[in-house]
Amino acid sequence: MNFSDLGLGPEVLRAVEDAGYTQPTPIQQQAIPLVLQGRDVLGCAQTGTGKTAGFTLPMIEILGKGRARARMPRSLILEPTRELAAQVAENFEVYGKHHKLNMALLIGGESFGDQVKRLDRGVDVLIATPGRMIDLFERGNILLSDIKIFVIDEADRMLDMGFIPDIERIAGLLPKMRQTLFFSATMPPEIRRLADAFLMNPKEVTVAPPASPATTVTQALAIIHRDDKRKALRHLLRTEEVKNAFIFCNRKKDVGVLHRSLEKHGFNAGALHGDLPQSVRTETLEAFRRGDISLLVCSDVAARGIDIQGVSHVFNFDIPIHAEDYVHRIGRTGRAGRSGRAFSLATPEDGKHVADIAKLIGKDIPVIPVDGLDQPGFEDVEDRRHRRGRKDDERARGRTERPERARRPERAAPKVEPVEVERAAAASRQDPGRQDLGRQDLGRQDLGRHDQTPRPDYRRDDRRRRPEMDDDETVVGFGDHVPAFVLRRARPASASMEEV
Ligand code: AMP
Repeated sequence: MNFSDLGLGPEVLRAVEDAGYTQPTPIQQQAIPLVLQGRDVLGCAQTGTGKTAGFTLPMIEILGKGRARARMPRSLILEPTRELAAQVAENFEVYGKHHKLNMALLIGGESFGDQVKRLDRGVDVLIATPGRMIDLFERGNILLSDIKIFVIDEADRMLDMGFIPDIERIAGLLPKMRQTLFFSATMPPEIRRLADAFLMNPKEVTVAPPASPATTVTQALAIIHRDDKRKALRHLLRTEEVKNAFIFCNRKKDVGVLHRSLEKHGFNAGALHGDLPQSVRTETLEAFRRGDISLLVCSDVAARGIDIQGVSHVFNFDIPIHAEDYVHRIGRTGRAGRSGRAFSLATPEDGKHVADIAKLIGKDIPVIPVDGLDQPGFEDVEDRRHRRGRKDDERARGRTERPERARRPERAAPKVEPVEVERAAAASRQDPGRQDLGRQDLGRQDLGRHDQTPRPDYRRDDRRRRPEMDDDETVVGFGDHVPAFVLRRARPASASMEEV
């Protein structure tokens, strides 16, 4: 089948030809005619399948026939991360080069002013992350009553990131008569329920079984002690022919530590994770794309959809806790039919996670030795449980010796006397400024909430965590949730109810 068989017009066909595509991919073959017919589409497709062109090409075709009015965009595409949003915007530029469509990219971390100016000029295509979209709407900068096409991309990732309430809110602001395109790499029941809520009589298109890693990626696993990980990585980086590589860590703080360590050992590395300012994230990704940086140490923010052609390697410095993340991570290499290599460093405690991955991908990852390093093998889970149980018992009986700690002089924990707590509470009652400060801080947190900050509800049962949340982060007090009564101004003893 050719692109010209799909119902696309001459300008879009020319752009496709300019992009060097000769044949539509399976998702494009299925989705493009449906979108052109105005049907709602439920697409089960991973990144790397060509799904972005699957929805952008027909959208350009449809939108090319009308004009946008100021502040009233005609189509809206929601993406879970800024990087993905920026990538879709690039796709629009490439495929829409023979059309005069206006596009605006609304992502956090960039100036509101510029984004508002673009909206004022009238946009045909709005590409946004959910948080920034809601912020702009709440500021009154945008009207969504003219949206004709609504795209929710990477829905399962949106779910993991806690964006579903935001998306539901945005969908509620859109006209009922619209075309909705909903894409997800996986279709767990929660995603199906959402699709049912958002789509009207959709046509379902599915390509490649979800979570099947590209066959072009050669995978290997080294089982080593935790303390040997950096050494093992350096060894692999030196012995493999690494042109460029993503190196994934589970925790943001480890991204920083590993990045500094690699630089110290003379590697040309950059770091990318969700806590870095957007300008740094964009710059780093561009430097990696250009080849100025050859190793990108990153968190899972870079695992999905980032499309950089010709990445030779992926290293999992940590085994991902969720098996699907493994598939997404290694999918950064072996793209567009090229070969790629993926190495994972497991510690003896990772046996369960590695088994989960093997179950998901339907095969074991071949285990390789790393020269000069001990190969401990996986710990037996039962053994570990017994050992932990024994330790707990001993600790309960007060018999456990912690040799390192025992040698250090014990410092007594500062004792907080109840009277001190009361005094502090009394001081804050007498000093309203102090209370206000607390309120302001909470208020600011709340404002920032929309900007990529996920919330705990609506997540998959087994994923009750913030994305990239440090596993060793302690949840203090109410955690993310601030009960309403805490936010309410305290009533001075003499005030009546009306004054509150
Ligand atoms: P996506 O799944 O949308 O992230 O696309 C993955 C990659 O495939 C991107 O680099 C696209 O430029 C490329 N691509 C999309 N459609 C085609 C096609 N029909 N032929 C060749 N490459 C394509």
